[in-house]
Order: sequence, then C-alpha cells, then structure tokens
Amino acid sequence: MRVAVVGGGVVGLACALELLRAGHEVTLLVRNEKEAASRVAGGMLAPFSEGLTDELLEFSVESLGLWREFLETVKELSNRSVFFSKGILRVAKDERELDELKKLRSYYLKRFCSSAELAEGEELGKLYPKLSEKLAGGVFYEEEGNVDTEELTEALFTAFLRLGGELRREGALRVNRDGERVLSVKTHSGKLEADYFVFAAGAWTKELFDVPVFPVKGQIARAELPPDGPPFVVYARDAYLIPREKDLLLGATTERAGFDARPTVKGASALTGNALSVLPALEEAEFYELRVGFRPGTPDGKPVFYFGENFALVSGHYRNGILHAPLTARLVFLLIERREVSPYFQKFSPYRFRRT
Ligand SMILES: Cc1cc2nc3c(=O)[nH]c(=O)nc-3n(C[C@H](O)[C@H](O)[C@H](O)COP(=O)(O)OP(=O)(O)OC[C@H]3O[C@@H](n4cnc5c(N)ncnc54)[C@H](O)[C@@H]3O)c2cc1C
Repeated sequence: MRVAVVGGGVVGLACALELLRAGHEVTLLVRNEKEAASRVAGGMLAPFSEGLTDELLEFSVESLGLWREFLETVKELSNRSVFFSKGILRVAKDERELDELKKLRSYYLKRFCSSAELAEGEELGKLYPKLSEKLAGGVFYEEEGNVDTEELTEALFTAFLRLGGELRREGALRVNRDGERVLSVKTHSGKLEADYFVFAAGAWTKELFDVPVFPVKGQIARAELPPDGPPFVVYARDAYLIPREKDLLLGATTERAGFDARPTVKGASALTGNALSVLPALEEAEFYELRVGFRPGTPDGKPVFYFGENFALVSGHYRNGILHAPLTARLVFLLIERREVSPYFQKFSPYRFRRT
C-alpha cells in the first residue's frame, strides 16, 4: 500500500518506520524537521515522575513497556548510537509534596511499576550527595528513563531512508477530503496522493484538521554537565535536570504564547533559578543555550486520535510525545494492517471535547 505520513517528529517518524517495516511504500512529508518539538524535548520516559493518572497513565505505561524494543530496532536499522539512561529520581521540595509523592508511589506500585525506592530526608543524599539539603525526599523510579531526542530523531530519519522511505521536504497546505475519505494532500509543489494517510503534525495539527490542538511553548536550557553532575535524571515540580553524554538539560517552561519562538530572559531566569534550588553545585557550570519547542497541547492534556476510511490522525501528545511514540506507531500499524481499532481511539477521540 502507498502510505503518506505528514510530520517529521518522533510520532510521525515512528509511524513511518513501523509501516515501512511491514512492507508498505511510505512517503514522509516534513515541512521543517528543525521545528519539531521532538528535537528539543527532554526525552524523559516518565509516567510516574509526571504524576500521570487514569487512561493517560495506562497508555503511557504501555508505551514505556515498548521502549526497549523500539530503541533497539531504531539503533539496529540506523546503525547509529542513541544515548539512553535508566531511572528518574522524583524529588519533593517540602513535606506536603513528599506526602503526595508517597501516595502516588503506593498507587503506582499496586499495578503499574515494580520498583520505586523511597528516600526521606537525609536518605536522599545517599542516592546523590550533591542535591540541595532543603529537599524533603524523593522516589527513584528505576523503570523510567531518558533518551537523547536529537540522536533519536537523526537515527529515525536514517533508518527511514535506509529502509527505502521517500522523504519530501515540503509542507502540507490542505487536506482534500470527501467526508471520511482523504482524496489527496495539497502541497507547495502540487498534490500528494496515497492509499492511506497518517497525520502527525504535532502542535500545527489545527492547520489541517479542526481539532483542539494548540502550541504550548517550552523553553529548555543546555549547560555543561559537571564531573560530579547527577548520575540520573532529577525531576522536581518546577525543574528537571537531565544529564546526557554531551550536556545537562535544564527544563522546562510551560507557556501559552502561541508560536512565539523567542527564548526569553524570564525563561532563562526561571530555568536556572529552579535548577539551582535543586542542585546548588551547578552555579559554575557553563551555560550553553536556550531552546524553544512547541508541545502539542489539548484542553485536557491527553492525545487526540482520530481515523476515517483511509486516514489516521495522531496528535496532542502534549508533554509526553516521546514516551508515547512507540505505542502510537503500533496502534496506527494495527489500524492500517489489520483494521484493528484500539480502544484508545475512542478514549482519545476528539469528540470528547464536544460532549462537554
Ligand atoms: C521543552 C520541551 C520538553 C519536552 N520534554 C519531553 C519529555 O521529556 N518527554 C516526552 O515524552 N515529551 C516531551 N516533550 C513533548 C514532546 O516533545 C512532544 O509531545 C512530541 O515531540 C510530539 O511529537 P510529534 O511528532 O507529534 O510533533 P513534533 O515533534 O512537533 O513534530 C511535528 C512535525 O510535523 C511537521 N509539520 C507540521 N505541520 C506540517 C505540515 N502542514 N506539513 C508538513 N509537515 C508538518 C513539523 O515540521 C514537525 O516536523 C517536550 C516538549 C518540549 C517543547
């Protein structure tokens, strides 16, 4: 089958790769690979540290379970290395927050995870001694992790091309539809026809479909990883620190500012100030840069999945699109290949916004 995938973020790329591997002819339409949130993202796979609940938690944990295999496949197909680290320490700044973390921890341990080490007060220093002594405690979620998203997107593009995918660097301007059937996609150079279409346009989805997906600006800083920097991700309610091979990420702001791509002084000040409150030893680390990305937000913070006769729309992954990519790609594959409609298409249907 000829499949056209619109969107060159991790979600579109993961779908494209899954379909190529199943033997389909895949064309990937990407307006600008540099604008993808996927490149800027922290890359945390963190359903527990994020404090997720209900169907979003279930979806996220299921996707987390697919991550190891997904990463191995991408590395093998691309012949590229992709940095990955295991475990996230979720810290609490005060006793009240620690109580909330403990409640969530018990809930997660019942059904969703098997390892969640609790460290209260001074015990935290045993996990990583440089942390601020003012922190009340934390929970170490061993099953969570972190991936270098620049390396991941590069590897996904490489794998896509190596498997014979066709990459078109241009934008989709309009979707030509006849009811629930997509006839073609109008592009800058003409029109793209296919047997099946997958739309994974992230924060820009509304340009093509009438669904409530909007940009949520995120500024994230890059700094030098000091020799005694954190050995794993440290996640606090207002800051996270992500050690990678080449740098330390300090994340991230959450702003409703449309597609304003300017890094701001306020953003830099919030990110560095909050990071220092968790890890004071960071003061002398070299500051590299501030980056901006647009999360595909939705009114309830959950994805938007929709399908018609010959198309699927997968968007609205908001803060967890990297985590969600493998399962999203799997569901799209099952829909196209086996006509199997996952219950998540109903749970995350855009019609839920019309009911209220
Ligand atoms: C600062 C920050 C930190 C984050 N941290 C994390 C994290 O730690 N963990 C996590 O899981 N998630 C994180 N996220 C969220 C994550 O980045 C997103 O949920 C995810 O990248 C969405 O992927 P996507 O492929 O749907 O969209 P994107 O990565 O934004 O890709 C969309 C693509 O579609 C293309 N496109 C759009 N419109 C068109 C069109 N009309 N025609 C052709 N192409 C088009 C764009 O050019 C782009 O290539 C973070 C986001 C930000 C901004």
